[in-house]
Amino acid sequence: MKDSMGRSWVEISLSTLKNNLESYRYLLPESTQVMAVVKADAYGHGDAVVAKFLSDNGVRFFAVSNIDEAIRIRDAGTCGKILILGYTPISRASKLVEYDITQALVSEQYAEKLSDTRLPIKCEFALDTGMRRIGLNADNPEECERVIRHYSKLLNLDGVFTHLCVADTDDLPALKFTQEQISKFEDITTRISDLELPYCHCLNSAGGLWHNYANSCFARLGIILYGLKPDYTNTLPDGIQPALTWKSIVSMVKSVEPGDTVGYGRTYTVDHPMTIATIPTGYADGYSRLLSNKGFVLVNGEKAPIIGRVCMDQLMVDVTDIPNVEMETEVILLGKSGKMEITADDMAQMIGTIGYELVCGISKRVDRIYIR
Ligand SMILES: *Cc1c(COP(=O)(O)O)cnc(C)c1O
Repeated sequence: MKDSMGRSWVEISLSTLKNNLESYRYLLPESTQVMAVVKADAYGHGDAVVAKFLSDNGVRFFAVSNIDEAIRIRDAGTCGKILILGYTPISRASKLVEYDITQALVSEQYAEKLSDTRLPIKCEFALDTGMRRIGLNADNPEECERVIRHYSKLLNLDGVFTHLCVADTDDLPALKFTQEQISKFEDITTRISDLELPYCHCLNSAGGLWHNYANSCFARLGIILYGLKPDYTNTLPDGIQPALTWKSIVSMVKSVEPGDTVGYGRTYTVDHPMTIATIPTGYADGYSRLLSNKGFVLVNGEKAPIIGRVCMDQLMVDVTDIPNVEMETEVILLGKSGKMEITADDMAQMIGTIGYELVCGISKRVDRIYIR
């Protein structure tokens, strides 16, 4: 076991993923199934292993962002529907058929180009109900209906979907906007109900919890599957826990004296005798440099503040008041140590971003280890 670890690694608990899936699923109406969103390497958790694990545990619907992700999870043994939520270049359209992958239609122009290939491509139309990212503009439902009907004859169209952009926010304007998005979506699905498209869905993780009155065959479950919050202000349902723990070790412990400065740019000046530890993880591992002089790690169940700038491959922390820190002492960068915990959501909040960006950013150089 120890051999596989070493310098900087993440441990992904598959039983926590399963638990999150089940806790979430339990809160959905019966007509809404989970579509597991495993884009961006399963939010940094490793898409091949995560998708195969979910597939083995009964999940039959998956979403990714691009064709390479789709092929990788199919090759890893993922069964069922795989929907690409983003753009696939026309030149790669034959791969969609070869791997039995469903493509989102981002626009009418894109649908036209795909139908020109004369390939039997499975597709779902994206509808833009207010986010202004992709899809047919749902403010013009007659036109949406016309386009959907037209391409339902030319392509292997089996669904429509939209994306909610403030479903994680519970102030009144946000709730109203989300309700409007859902009613625009439902207006269009009603207009085309005679086409009997099997997959009409409008919910993301947040929507599945807080807007599940919507008529949606799927909740496209992303961030909450991994145990993180769509928005820092959210309270997640009981039982949902982060599935990923990021660990490293101490490479060196030393004493520093008043007047010494620590790290690049000399941004930290020592003002009393201190003990500091160096950790062989840096921004090239995805540990954000914005955490310089701001973040902390956990050592022996205590907080060790980062001092100085995070380097490319290393960082330094203050361990003056923490007993028993030595070479190869384990360090928690994200996760629990004793009674203390630092989540990706907490860390993101410190630097003005979201947990999604932090876990997606854990780089290839960091080993992924799976525990049951
Ligand atoms: C990323 C994404 C999701 C998942 O969002 P979460 O907030 O992680 O649940 C769902 N649908 C679409 C279209 C997405 O792009």
